[in-house]
Amino acid sequence: MRPLFTPWRKRYLERVDEEMQTCIFCAAAQAADPRERWVLFRGRWNLIMLNLYPYSNGHMMIAPLTHWASPTEASPEALTEMALWIPVVLEVLHEAYRPHGFNLGMNLGRCAGAGFADHYHLHVLPRWEGDTNFMATVAETRLIPEDIPTTFDRLRPLLEARLRRGTYPTG
Ligand SMILES: [Zn+2]
Repeated sequence: MRPLFTPWRKRYLERVDEEMQTCIFCAAAQAADPRERWVLFRGRWNLIMLNLYPYSNGHMMIAPLTHWASPTEASPEALTEMALWIPVVLEVLHEAYRPHGFNLGMNLGRCAGAGFADHYHLHVLPRWEGDTNFMATVAETRLIPEDIPTTFDRLRPLLEARLRRGTYPTG
């Protein structure tokens, strides 16, 4: 087999590695100011933050405060808190944006599409009938009419109001 010489690709991968050295979820967990990293809510074991490169308005990520690559490494408490937040996040997104549906998912490992493969996180995306389908979404044809600070100011009080109520056991 003839080897392919692709120095551009090596350079690209090195640049990606450099950028990936800072874990955005650990940085968010340590941020003193929530707006510095757009942390919508910080619980005992997890945080909810906005995706800076959203696939749709209100695209959130729930991630553990601990740098775990997979739920297989996580504590039962952290997994439970994340699970209990799911209905709350869905309610808040419904109230704020009236979506017709949602995508929830985790990409575990680079080959599965994880941008940050070393710190697992759950994506929550509101969807509307007639919005881009998933292939169009990954092909970068996104329509994002609302900017991040506006989304943050809209969602944060709604999440605070529900999650600060303390109706979920691990909080
Ligand atoms: Zn991390």
